[in-house]
Amino acid sequence: MPETIDCNTMTRMLRGAAAEIREQHEMLSRLDSVGGDGDHGTTMLRAMANLEKAIDASAAPGLKPLLYDVGWAILGVDGGATGPLLGTLFMSMSEALEGKDAPNPAEMAAAFEAGLAGVQAQTKAQVGDKTMIDALVPAVAALRTSVNGGSDIVDALRRAAEAAEQGAAATRELQARFGRARNIKEKSIGTQDPGATSVSLMFKGFWKGAETHA
Ligand code: ADP
Ligand code: MG
Repeated sequence: MPETIDCNTMTRMLRGAAAEIREQHEMLSRLDSVGGDGDHGTTMLRAMANLEKAIDASAAPGLKPLLYDVGWAILGVDGGATGPLLGTLFMSMSEALEGKDAPNPAEMAAAFEAGLAGVQAQTKAQVGDKTMIDALVPAVAALRTSVNGGSDIVDALRRAAEAAEQGAAATRELQARFGRARNIKEKSIGTQDPGATSVSLMFKGFWKGAETHA
């Protein structure tokens, strides 16, 4: 069981996220076609293609430059809200990993918290507004709680993935207050938010990717 996250583990986590998204991209676009413009799956596919390209091209060893390159590549994805928000997540995680090439569980939780803070600086959406925030906030909170309770990295990521899945599932009952889906008002109730679903899939991939290494 690894006690720290090195570049190999992070690479597996990132590729794990890409694999989950690729598998489910049609469902993501279907969800987005209810209240949005139906492009979320294809936008996420492009984001994950950029992520993998960035991993392959990343020359600099170390987590900080790796996550910087990945974040920068995702920022460049056109198609609305997703690229800037998800790109910022990884860029802000990168900044938090200054001087930490093999973060321990607490440092990893801090990096995810910094990533969330970066995203929250870009949007006023709160938990309950039916956006990706509804999955990201509980995921990061669960990560922190389990790390503080002594969980190892894989177990903490598993709990984060479970919390993200629950958070995404809970968006089904909510009315969208941000993004395109807010335009259809109460008709958005009954469909899970696509962005929250993507975040949930990505955390599942982080967990699965970290687990294969364990
Ligand atoms: P767009 O809506 O621009 O076409 P996508 O379809 O790729 O972008 O992504 C839609 C998802 O982005 C939504 O389901 C929601 O989770 C998220 N989202 C949209 N706007 C915001 C926002 N202002 N703050 C947080 N998340 C948002
Ligand atoms: Mg869309």
